[in-house]
Amino acid sequence: MPSSITSNQSNPPWSRDELVLALDLYLRHRDGLPGKNHPEVQALSQSLNLIGNATAVSKNQSFRNTNGVYMKLNNFRRWDPSYTHSGRTGLAKGNKDEELVWLEFANNPKRLAEVVAAINANVEPGTTTAINLNEEEEPGFFEAEEGKVLTRVHRVRERDKKLVKHKKDEALKKHGELKCEACDFNFSKTYGADVEGIIDIHHTKPLHTLQPGDKTKLTDLVLLCANCHRVVHSRRKWLSVAEVKARYQTNRE
Ligand SMILES: [Zn+2]
Ligand SMILES: [Zn+2]
Repeated sequence: MPSSITSNQSNPPWSRDELVLALDLYLRHRDGLPGKNHPEVQALSQSLNLIGNATAVSKNQSFRNTNGVYMKLNNFRRWDPSYTHSGRTGLAKGNKDEELVWLEFANNPKRLAEVVAAINANVEPGTTTAINLNEEEEPGFFEAEEGKVLTRVHRVRERDKKLVKHKKDEALKKHGELKCEACDFNFSKTYGADVEGIIDIHHTKPLHTLQPGDKTKLTDLVLLCANCHRVVHSRRKWLSVAEVKARYQTNRE
């Protein structure tokens, strides 16, 4: 029966954002994990549902309920050296992103706190950033280690048509041309003067600083050719424009 299929449909795997929030709670209670009815477990369950709403994942009734949150906290046990050093192993099941999130954030509490705050701020109901991007991401585009929510905020900002136009107009006025700030590629010079206006815009502000309602400044944006922009986003730890520029200069010979 279709209805039973729907109700039995399993929930999607935990996204990196969700794991980041869960890790934060885990680390605060590392020495004694809270039970299902603990207020912080309930609060996390609610935050995870806000992320689910903001990113339009399909949820069933049990989506990230307190039981699921409790289980996930226990999943982190097996990555925690302070737990496993005594020979204990923790729950065996879980997803592989848990380990990555652990490695990226567990020993960097300041960064973890910043990313948690930024994720939560951007999924609050009534936030002004529309992050439910419907378009499929390009192949080869990697979600940042800060997770889906902040990745989407970044993409929405760098694709804002008005801002893109302002940035291009400003560059044309200042330099008389549009060229890639990493490799100097100029589409008009390469493909003909009638090929104009082609350049990507990349938003450079660190993801954990993105707050809903921020006004993007033109100085937060850089011009990149499609190749360089792809390279920036070609791994979980996005490259900076300076890094792409250095790689270009080192490798082009
Ligand atoms: Zn380039
Ligand atoms: Zn970008």
